[in-house]
Amino acid sequence: MIKNLGFNFDNTYADLPEIMATKLSPIAVKKPKLVILNKILAKSLGLDLSKISDEQNAEIFSGNKLIEGSSPLAQAYCGHQFGHFVMLGDGRAVLLGEHLDSNKQRWDIQLKGSGKTPYSRSGDGRAALGPMLREYIISEAIHFLNIPTTRSLAVVETGEEVIRETKLKGAILTRIASSHLRVGTFQFVAAKQDIATLKTLVDYAIERHYPELIQAQNKAVALFKAVMKRQIKLIVNWMRVSFVHGVMNTDNMSISGESIDYGPCAFMDQYDTKTVFSSIDHYGRYAYGSQPVIGQWNLARFIESLFPLLDKDEKKAEKIANDLIVNYEDLFAKEFHEMMKNKLGMISDEDQDKRMMRDLFKLMHKNQADYTNTFRYLINGKFPQEKLLNDPDFIIWEAEWKKRLSKNQNSEDAYKLMIKNNPVFIPRNHKVEEALSEAEKGNLSKFLLLCNVIKKPYDENVNQEDYTKPAPASDRIYKTYCGT
Ligand code: AMP
Ligand code: MG
Repeated sequence: MIKNLGFNFDNTYADLPEIMATKLSPIAVKKPKLVILNKILAKSLGLDLSKISDEQNAEIFSGNKLIEGSSPLAQAYCGHQFGHFVMLGDGRAVLLGEHLDSNKQRWDIQLKGSGKTPYSRSGDGRAALGPMLREYIISEAIHFLNIPTTRSLAVVETGEEVIRETKLKGAILTRIASSHLRVGTFQFVAAKQDIATLKTLVDYAIERHYPELIQAQNKAVALFKAVMKRQIKLIVNWMRVSFVHGVMNTDNMSISGESIDYGPCAFMDQYDTKTVFSSIDHYGRYAYGSQPVIGQWNLARFIESLFPLLDKDEKKAEKIANDLIVNYEDLFAKEFHEMMKNKLGMISDEDQDKRMMRDLFKLMHKNQADYTNTFRYLINGKFPQEKLLNDPDFIIWEAEWKKRLSKNQNSEDAYKLMIKNNPVFIPRNHKVEEALSEAEKGNLSKFLLLCNVIKKPYDENVNQEDYTKPAPASDRIYKTYCGT
């Protein structure tokens, strides 16, 4: 047992009804070696990890040594994966416990890749180094883009191999989340038809994430509405920065509204709503532009799981559920419109705004323009994209846009708004791949450089110009894998 590193465990999930989890320890690994430790995050959590050696950190974040106060468990959940309902659960993860920071904020500390559990199905319970470093960098990038997300505290090599298409280095990621409650967690309890536990779970989720709803008349309805609001904000935010989650199964949709489960995700360069990176997403179910509809589809599964708590009368419950889910479309459209207004520096409301947004999307698509750099161009006139800039329709559009901005009361405010909403740096796919392939060979320098670039995504930095470029044409067809 490791003591006194600032860990302050207060484990509540372990006290939920027994069906919700299986108590078990991570399975020890052969030769843990620290690859990366997020010291800034550790400090913000109140952990004193700099005091101990890399070897000791590796023991902790491989799960070989447990920290005093932890109460490890694997969570049970279900999920619709590509539309098919499956019993899942933490098949390769262990929740060490819930840490309270100095502000009494509660954080799940979870090891991913920590060995088999009763939920592993045919999997080996392990993870490979590349995908764990990928989750590390992308989740940190999303965080610094000001989008709610789980975060990454450490990656440890296990000293063991994992067998995928080839033999790969095994690794464990330490994931920090405000919780690991998923839509799939509710689906699991609903599938068991255990209404008492369903009620307990609603109360638990409200207490943990939406304490302002404790007095709500119908807690299930209140919870649903709150989750829907956060999910809409989240998906709109992803689209703001060109993020494609890639595997929006219901088990990967968090009740807290954080981005979770970074598998085949990636950032779109050229604007195309059909952009898909995942090698297994043959029909584009989770394409960039399908994310809003899939969000609604997942939330429909969420409200279905809450059905027994909506009303005793089945007909009434059905009506409540329908009304709630139909409302998504308007709420989403409003949030999306606001986001686009921010990106374009539109402060007042003008009749032409919606049309101008649509026109810009069409122009970017027609000219295969880089999404991120197009918006930055509007701010600083740099990063010229020849094809777009030479398009006579874009020249007209830009002139109209400039005229439109003059309707704002204060041009300085518009400029500030655009700076805040349009990143300069996103983790470009070819840069991520380059960093990961070097890291897999034992050279972390490019990975660390990239970690640095993503920390200030909204600040221009002439020394990092190279990171603003989309992949060269020869490297454009980018595929991602489910990351096991
Ligand atoms: P994901 O695609 O990461 O959301 O995982 C979907 C489900 O598969 C979850 O229940 C995971 O715990 C499980 N899973 C993924 N990889 C493995 C593995 N290597 N061994 C066991 N379970 C796994
Ligand atoms: Mg998952």
